[in-house]
Amino acid sequence: MTEVPNPDAHLAKLILALRGQGVTDPGVLGALESTPREIFTPDLFRDRAWEDSALPIACGQTISQPYIVGLMTQALRLEPRARVLEIGTGSGYQTTVLSKLARLVYTVERYRTLMGEAEGRFRQLGLTNVITRFGDGGLGWPEQAPFDRILVTAAASDEPRALLTQLKPGGILVAPVGKGPVQNLNRYIGDGRGGFEVETLTEVRFVPLLDGVAKEL
Ligand code: SAH
Repeated sequence: MTEVPNPDAHLAKLILALRGQGVTDPGVLGALESTPREIFTPDLFRDRAWEDSALPIACGQTISQPYIVGLMTQALRLEPRARVLEIGTGSGYQTTVLSKLARLVYTVERYRTLMGEAEGRFRQLGLTNVITRFGDGGLGWPEQAPFDRILVTAAASDEPRALLTQLKPGGILVAPVGKGPVQNLNRYIGDGRGGFEVETLTEVRFVPLLDGVAKEL
């Protein structure tokens, strides 16, 4: 494992940079500050854990850029009583940030390996409000619906209609939507019956939301 020289200074610099880029919610900044990104990062990239960039993880996926995690979390307007559905657990970094601001986080991942590794990290951190599922998150989690908030951390090629039907009236869904390498980061307010209002917040680059579970590990 590579030692990171003075991780506190790196963290302070990152938080300051995020604030400068518009992540200003004190709760969100606090959650980012108290989430040790180095435990979500592969050994090979551990010395870069506090850079504001996405990094490769197993299964050809990525751990999201801290700025994007901050922006998406802020866009959800979380309340402490919220039950949140997250699609695309990946490393579990975004899940952990959500778990500090919401009552319960349900998270779905289509790679067994990633799900297993993320579960190990949730145990290591002592998180008691994260519920995991290996499966196709494009279908949501009908048994636990409706949710106050839904966050999709992989790019949907079209409006995520199945997920919108699992939102409470007035609930918020944030998702990257688009077919190309650059997508729109959209925020939807649902009416509880699948109807919605939508606004585009910015442009982002996410790995695609794929159908079905992965056959490989
Ligand atoms: N939020 C993660 C980044 C995730 S990258 C983090 O902080 O590390 C996107 C993740 O979505 C990948 O792990 C990918 O396997 C997963 N994914 C893609 N399509 C999916 C689907 N249909 N259901 C569940 N997970 C999916």
